[in-house]
Amino acid sequence: MAGQYRGRNKLRRLQKVESGKSVEEVVQELRKTKTDSCNYREQSLKIHGLICAKCAREFDDTNRHLLTVHHKDGNHHHNPSNGTNWENLCVYCHDDEHSRGTLGDYLNKSKLIG
Ligand SMILES: [Zn+2]
Ligand SMILES: [Zn+2]
Repeated sequence: MAGQYRGRNKLRRLQKVESGKSVEEVVQELRKTKTDSCNYREQSLKIHGLICAKCAREFDDTNRHLLTVHHKDGNHHHNPSNGTNWENLCVYCHDDEHSRGTLGDYLNKSKLIG
């Protein structure tokens, strides 16, 4: 009897998780986005090198996190594998680049990958 009760309890817990799926989905999406971003970021760094396209500041493995990938056409989903839509910009130049445009709000969302 006790086992049966526990089983029912478990079922209820599963249902609860399912009803809170939106949170799970959000987390999953965030994870996916992060993975995708990392992929094209690594690719862009590989293609264009660890150097800022604007100020020519050079980076290495110790500070490469300060080098970000900018999408020239502003479209994050436009990621040609030959890197034609990417520009490696240091965080300062990247900020500067976006502060002139109307893309400020997406920079807030993804500071390091815009
Ligand atoms: Zn720079
Ligand atoms: Zn950008």
